[in-house]
Amino acid sequence: MIGGAIRLVAPNEGVYVLDLEGRPTFFEHGMRSYERGLSGLLVRKSWDGGRRIVEEVPGGERESLLEHVYGAVRRALEGAADEATRDALALAASRGIGWLREDERRFASLYMPISILPPDQYLSIVLQATVGCSYNKCSFCDFYRDRGYRAKDPREFEAHAREVREWLGAGAMLRGRIFLADANPLGAPRDYVLEYARIARETFPGRELFAFADYFSTRLTPSDYARLRSMGLRRVYIGLESGSREVLRVLNKPPEPRLAVRMARSLGEAGISRGLIVLVGAGGRGLWRRHVRETVDVIDSMDLGGDDLIFLSRLLVKPGSPYALAERDHMEARELDAQEREFEDELRSRGLRVAPYDIREAIYRSRRPAASCTRPRGPRRRRPAAYPSARLGPPPAPRPRAPSRRWWPCAR
Ligand code: SF4
Repeated sequence: MIGGAIRLVAPNEGVYVLDLEGRPTFFEHGMRSYERGLSGLLVRKSWDGGRRIVEEVPGGERESLLEHVYGAVRRALEGAADEATRDALALAASRGIGWLREDERRFASLYMPISILPPDQYLSIVLQATVGCSYNKCSFCDFYRDRGYRAKDPREFEAHAREVREWLGAGAMLRGRIFLADANPLGAPRDYVLEYARIARETFPGRELFAFADYFSTRLTPSDYARLRSMGLRRVYIGLESGSREVLRVLNKPPEPRLAVRMARSLGEAGISRGLIVLVGAGGRGLWRRHVRETVDVIDSMDLGGDDLIFLSRLLVKPGSPYALAERDHMEARELDAQEREFEDELRSRGLRVAPYDIREAIYRSRRPAASCTRPRGPRRRRPAAYPSARLGPPPAPRPRAPSRRWWPCAR
């Protein structure tokens, strides 16, 4: 055990990672990897020829895979050398499918569905300070259509945070950050936002804060951001989508990119990192050039630096959605590849950091991932190790590697 996780490396078999309450979070089986969200959702990631497949594992298969994980835990327990490892494995081995089902029911009672997370926040402790999105009208987005918006009273938020702490138990040790959800917790009244930050940090000490924010309804001032920085806020994720007013109109997002610039600058001046989300393919073929050029122009005026990140998230047009009705000249996969390459080249040539954003991999939540998508070209990026490790048993034998492919965001 290291850093709040049990990591088993079984030679010729795979790697299994569980939190200290015995919840499987990641494992490999065959040539595939699996990630389990706290909701119970199990996502399989694999390659099929040139296609990157990310899919939800259905119920019966899910249970037999999780049984397999617990079997590996029980085998490791037999050979555990030291007492601390034995205790951790004994607790994990005492869990099972029945316990997980109960745990998932508890999750569902504590949270509204966690519709989406930034890609670097899947291992955070999510606390829902606000419910839903205060705007909720973007033509391409249905993440929060199932709920009205409201900001929780701080006392309600405090009760929520305490319940989450009690439920996570020792499993919280695997999760080193706090993510304030849903779409725009910084859009709550200022005093509430400060209380959310205080309560979150007092409930889970030593962890930094992260949050989504929209640029058109958040009313915080530069001094509020400075205060939040001193209270632990480290990065704010802004759904810019596009710097083109015309594209934003098609997205039915308020066409005011200058407000995004103002917010990004205020955050930067307060020492808070910016995570900008750009929607690849937005505006279709007709607005391709404007989308790229004007988005890059807007980003240029934000004064981003080394701590900031730009996420390229590919638009998957849902048939019948307001976006599909508003814009009918959609790009094909190879055109999306090309536009994404353009963004990458433009932004990297400015020394900016760019990362893919595949919403199908937001596995804390309970939404169903998109079926699959094609990701041809280029070497696969190395991802930072997501899990701390404690190796039990000898090092694994070399295993055959999956075909090297780069994976990309493909849906939103
Ligand atoms: S894209 Fe963001 S602002 Fe627009 S509806 Fe979705 S969550 Fe709300």
